[in-house]
Amino acid sequence: MKEIIREMICIVCPNGCRLTVDDSGEIGGYQCERGLGYARDETVNPTRVLTSTVRVIGGVHRRCPVKTDRPVPKGLLMKAMERVNAVELTAPVECGQIILGNLLGTESNLVTTREIGRAKEIISEAQAP
Ligand code: SF4
Repeated sequence: MKEIIREMICIVCPNGCRLTVDDSGEIGGYQCERGLGYARDETVNPTRVLTSTVRVIGGVHRRCPVKTDRPVPKGLLMKAMERVNAVELTAPVECGQIILGNLLGTESNLVTTREIGRAKEIISEAQAP
């Protein structure tokens, strides 16, 4: 009799199917091919899109949200976060700006997800007639 050795919730769509992997590597519980692919990836090489924030100097906000433009292997996330934490941007910051290309050789780029203007511009606009 096969034994379930792993369970996971499929996050590909809102159905949230309960996926299982048994001791022979057979995957169950999926309702579509996308779910099967997700379970295979999670079993062999789990990946995640990294989301975080980085420091901004001279901006209207002190931190800028960032994310990778494609998933990064889960095993590299901690090391990737070390790189992300060392980033310091200077305002103005464009949305979609690549701030770390080919992060750890993963072909994933770290990009900004928000525009951050210079703090001075806000002050100047406030003083304008
Ligand atoms: S297995 Fe298919 S239907 Fe079920 S949650 Fe995953 S993507 Fe959605």
